[in-house]
Order: sequence, then C-alpha cells, then structure tokens
Amino acid sequence: MVELASGEGVASLRAELSAILGDGGLLERPDFETRSCDPFRHVPILSPFIARPSDAHQLSAVIEAAAAHDFCIVTHGGRTGVAGGAFTRPDSIVVSLERMNRIEEICEVDQLAVVQAGVPIQALHEAAEARGLFYPVDLGAKGSATLGGTISTNAGGNHVVRWGMTRQNLLGVEGVLADGTIVSSLNRLVKNNTGYDLKQLFTGTEGTIGIVTKAVVKLVAMPTTQSVALVAVDGMSKVLSLLNLARAMPTLSAFEVMWRDYYDLMAASNSGRRPLEPGHSYYVLVESMGNDQEADEAAFERFVHQATQQDLVVDGVVASSEKQRRDLWHVREGSEIIVREFGKIVSFDISAELGSIEQVVEEAYAALRQRFPQVRGTTFGHLGDNNIHLGIGIGEETVERTAEIEEIVFDVLARHHGAITAEHGIGTLKRQFLRKYLSEGEMAAMRRMRDAFDPDRRLNPDVML
Ligand SMILES: Cc1cc2nc3c(=O)[nH]c(=O)nc-3n(C[C@H](O)[C@H](O)[C@H](O)COP(=O)(O)OP(=O)(O)OC[C@H]3O[C@@H](n4cnc5c(N)ncnc54)[C@H](O)[C@@H]3O)c2cc1C
Repeated sequence: MVELASGEGVASLRAELSAILGDGGLLERPDFETRSCDPFRHVPILSPFIARPSDAHQLSAVIEAAAAHDFCIVTHGGRTGVAGGAFTRPDSIVVSLERMNRIEEICEVDQLAVVQAGVPIQALHEAAEARGLFYPVDLGAKGSATLGGTISTNAGGNHVVRWGMTRQNLLGVEGVLADGTIVSSLNRLVKNNTGYDLKQLFTGTEGTIGIVTKAVVKLVAMPTTQSVALVAVDGMSKVLSLLNLARAMPTLSAFEVMWRDYYDLMAASNSGRRPLEPGHSYYVLVESMGNDQEADEAAFERFVHQATQQDLVVDGVVASSEKQRRDLWHVREGSEIIVREFGKIVSFDISAELGSIEQVVEEAYAALRQRFPQVRGTTFGHLGDNNIHLGIGIGEETVERTAEIEEIVFDVLARHHGAITAEHGIGTLKRQFLRKYLSEGEMAAMRRMRDAFDPDRRLNPDVML
C-alpha cells in the first residue's frame, strides 16, 4: 500500500494551486476516487491533487509551484493510453488538460484547425466534418483520447496507411517545459524551415519533454465516398499480394488484417460479428475513401475483381450501406470481446517488416507455447503499416508473468529487427525493455535530450527512460 502525501507541505501546495487555478481548477480526493489511470482496469490516482489549468500561463505557474514543493507532474489526457504513461505516485500532481477543451479555429482556406490539447479526437472530427473537412487520425479510443495525448504518444490508428501518424498531421504546437517556459510554436504553414522544428520535441515524447497545451493540425477535404470489403485469405503471401493490389488504389484508407485466432473468437461471440464463415487463415478489411463517387467505386470494384481473378481471396463481402460498413468495422474493433473471453491479457503493439511478420508471429507463439502450454492469443492489426497487435492470455497468472511473456515476444522481434512498440509508446510499463532494444548511442542521445529539458525529472518521471 503506497502512502498518500499529506501534512503541512501539502496544505501550502493546495493553497498555492487554488490561487493559481481559481474556481473549479483544483480537484481533491474524493472528487477523483472513481477515475482510473488505465482504460482496462482500475488503477487509482495516488496524487493528492488534480490541477486543471485553463491555459498555458496557469500551467506554467502550476509547474513552478510543484517544483517549489518538490512534487513532480504526471499529465493526463483522456487516460486511454495502454502503456501506463498516466500512472501516478504520491509525490505527483496530476495535470489534466480537461478544461483546455476548445476548438479555437477551423480554417477552410488553409485546411487547418487550432485546437486546445484537451479536445477529444471525436469532437475534432465532428467539428471538422461540419465544415466539410476531415482530421485523418482515427482510433478506437477517439471518444476519450485527446489531441494532447495523441500528440504525446504520436498515435497511429486506422488510417496511417494513407495519411500517416499524428506526427504527419501536425503543423504546430504550444507547450510548457519543465521549468515553466511557454513554447508557442503554433506554425500554420506547410513549409517552414525557420530554425528547429520545435513541435517534434512534444511529439511521441510521452510528456517527458513538455506538456502540450494547444496545436495546429492539418485537415483534408472530407471524403465523400467510402467503400469497405471484408475478405478471407488463405496464406500470408496472398495477404501481401492483396496489400500491393490495394496500394495501387490512391484512395486506399485502411488495410486491417485479422488472424484466424482473432476472427474465430469474434465469430463465436454473441456480438453478431460473423459476416464470413470462420476457419480461414486471415481476414482482411480493406477501406477506400475519396471524393469522386463514380471513379472511387469503379476503382474499388476493379480491386475486388482483380483480387478474385488472381485467386487472392476465398470469400468476401462488400458493404452496400452505411450500416454494413459500420458492421464490418465492428468486427475489427473487438477489444472488449478479447478482454471478456480471456479475462486478463498482455497486449502488444509490435511492428516488423512485412516480409517477416508471419515468421515473427509463428515464432512468438511457438516460444510462448513452449513456456506456457496453456497460452491463448489473438492476432490482428494495421498490417498496411507494419503494425500488429497480439493479445496474450495464460490464465490466472497472466498479470504476474507479464514481464516473462513480453520478454519472449520481444526476443523474437529483436531477431527480426522489429519494434517493441509501434504506436502505444513505452510509458511506465515497457520502460525496463528500452535499454535492451535500443543501442547505447540511442540511449545516450535520449538521456542527454531529457536531461537538457528536464534535469530534475519533473515531468512524467517514471515514463520512458
Ligand atoms: C480501445 C482503444 C483503442 C486504441 N487504439 C489505438 C490505436 O489504434 N492507435 C494508437 O496509437 N493508440 C490507440 N490506443 C491507445 C490510446 O488511445 C492512445 O495512446 C492515445 O493517444 C492516448 O490519448 P489520451 O488523451 O487518452 O492520453 P493519456 O492516456 O491520458 O496519456 C497518454 C500519455 O500521454 C501523456 N499526455 C497526455 N496528454 C498530454 C499532453 N497534453 N501533453 C503531454 N503529454 C501528455 C500522458 O502523461 C501519458 O504518458 C487505443 C486505446 C484504447 C483504449
């Protein structure tokens, strides 16, 4: 049991924070007793306070107050991150961006939005759509995941194959550094080589270099056409040939692959996710989005026709209504079924070169089976961008033996020069592995960078390295 901070120091910190944040800016226990730092299980907040600044100036003052009382800061967005990056400790203050929740501007001419960090991705989607525009970063957690959280983790999601990760959709950032310095680098230009590209300091650095308070993101014209097919494929070489065929469509927007262990689990659940018969080795969801009804539909039909002619698919269904498109995506977004069926799981978001993905998966399961004969797994992911998810369960001991399970999979990956995290980040949960999978030089450069910006480890001290 970890002791919660209390005493005189905490009382004076409370008074300072209240004065900085004003009415409604500071939460105290029991206001946040039911909040969790993790989306899948209850991980309580150990900090005595949640500070909810309403702008970068308040945040800067909060950071200075925390430093004066020797408290660190743990930043919270939507708390959907699955790497433990939002986990707290008793000597931390949580900074939540939830009051920075305004979309300040949507510019149709320059196709950009200026958005405060606490805005959920879905709210950004809806606001952009109302102006005929589209923010391409799209993930299952979009209802709660915030723009700031997705920038700090460089979130990927379903459309990376077409529009890239968060990094590729970002123009500028405003953020606050560990010493309270406000960095306003709200670039709105596509081309701007004036000095260092400071937004990169905040992107994918998981809140260890600075806290994002606002950003300028790129928008694109709202796609007006969407075609979705789900096909069954026997063999990885055919899946990869299908990917190449799909890439020839300029409108390709998703290429999601489900292994048989995943699809059969969905098909056997009582959730209605069974558009095709189970039992094939792979199921692929292909999506195209564009703006020319006739040309886009013709291209998609041509793709389906060629795939059939080239004997790449053994079964398939093409959605013919909005409901059917949603139903097909529903098959792919079944994480709650995995949790329901397996109870506890260790989830992976690994990536490997396409040519070795099948081998990585086979070797990982073989090695896992050797140590844990009872192992169960589901395998699926954004294959179009090298990234797959494994959900691994070994029964009652799954949580206690997480590190062993991870080590087995990561060792296989290392042999194939893969990455231990493709999109979720290192957080607190994968920190122990970083040193093993990065070179000494890489580790030294990262440490030097962090020390330069945050020598006292004020921001997310237990995250990353
Ligand atoms: C069902 C589900 C589906 C998901 N699908 C995907 C997916 O397809 N692709 C993907 O990449 N991820 C996915 N995720 C993971 C998660 O949604 C992302 O990591 C997301 O970017 C986290 O955003 P958040 O606002 O919830 O951040 P949080 O979980 O609150 O925080 C995540 C990390 O970012 C830091 N942070 C948060 N806000 C800021 C800020 N303003 N400034 C600096 N640091 C900050 C936190 O300290 C923490 O280290 C999924 C999660 C779930 C539960």
